[in-house]
Amino acid sequence: MMKAVKLYEPGNLQVEDIGIPTISPDEVLIEVKAVGVCGSDIPRALVKGAYYKGLTLGHEFAGQIVECGSDATEWAVGDRVTIAPLVPCKKCQYCEQGKYGLCESYNYYGSRTDGAMANYIKVGKENILKIDDTISYDAGAMIDPAANAIHGLWRGDLKKGDVAVVIGLGAIGLFAIQFAREMGAKEVIAVDIFDEKLQVAKKLGADRVINSMTENLGEVLAGTDVSVVLDTSGSAIAQEQAVSIAGKMGRVVFLGISNQPLTLSAKTVDRLLRYEIGVHGSWNSFSDPFPGKEWTYAIECMAQGKIKTQEIISHRFSLEETPQAFEKIKNKELLFNKIMIYPGD
Ligand SMILES: [Zn+2]
Ligand SMILES: [Zn+2]
Repeated sequence: MMKAVKLYEPGNLQVEDIGIPTISPDEVLIEVKAVGVCGSDIPRALVKGAYYKGLTLGHEFAGQIVECGSDATEWAVGDRVTIAPLVPCKKCQYCEQGKYGLCESYNYYGSRTDGAMANYIKVGKENILKIDDTISYDAGAMIDPAANAIHGLWRGDLKKGDVAVVIGLGAIGLFAIQFAREMGAKEVIAVDIFDEKLQVAKKLGADRVINSMTENLGEVLAGTDVSVVLDTSGSAIAQEQAVSIAGKMGRVVFLGISNQPLTLSAKTVDRLLRYEIGVHGSWNSFSDPFPGKEWTYAIECMAQGKIKTQEIISHRFSLEETPQAFEKIKNKELLFNKIMIYPGD
């Protein structure tokens, strides 16, 4: 038997004793060592509810293989791994082009099938990525948000010598700051409305930090030729600010999930045209070969110690404490960044 965090109605999370999953020949069984709470888990757990009642949450995790199916011979018991949570159909036109994030008929660990807020999870052999000993399980559980940050920067065509602005300093934003630097940005500017988050960004190498609540972003950046603006907040105010600060031929990337209408001022629309600004959506983290270069690049940079991860974790909970952690999020009692859950003891 094992414990798992199951989601029933929105806000109703239960820690239950269930059987350890039985693997099929092309699957492996992973003992989960660390699993992060994703920004997308929060509306799923508190507002929208699960794809089916009794779903085990959790898709950002790392662990150790404890059993391999007979057709999963490329993996071995004891391997330290993380997984890419998307299971693309590999048949639709987007999968054929290697654009797996656009798949028309996909499965997804922790949202459409049982995830990793449990002692064990069974995963298809094609979703697994090896992490070496230099990558902690905490860091391994954050390769997913790191890969999302990379995908967003690549959607914005970030090049050497660019000035990058990252709005919203959750885990993806804090990774974006570091990867923008790694990709050769000459200046990286971090923007948020909380000073606590700006301080973390500074520690992680942001050249400048701006509190967009107390400072006027447009005025502060008036003399700066901004090449790429990545919004990870999803706030309509931030999205309009993002377009309003982009420089000539600037690329604005909307990555933060939003379900809000967006209004641009007349001045911002004028700028969008005159400056030939491109506005791009960014969705998830996948490319060819699956799961994508975003994942291998993130792992490579982490293994070389180029990317800091511990500073991004704000809270740590045991599996049993998970329902209370979501309760605290719901009641806005936590100013959090990455929340990490540890199913083991
Ligand atoms: Zn996620
Ligand atoms: Zn597909």
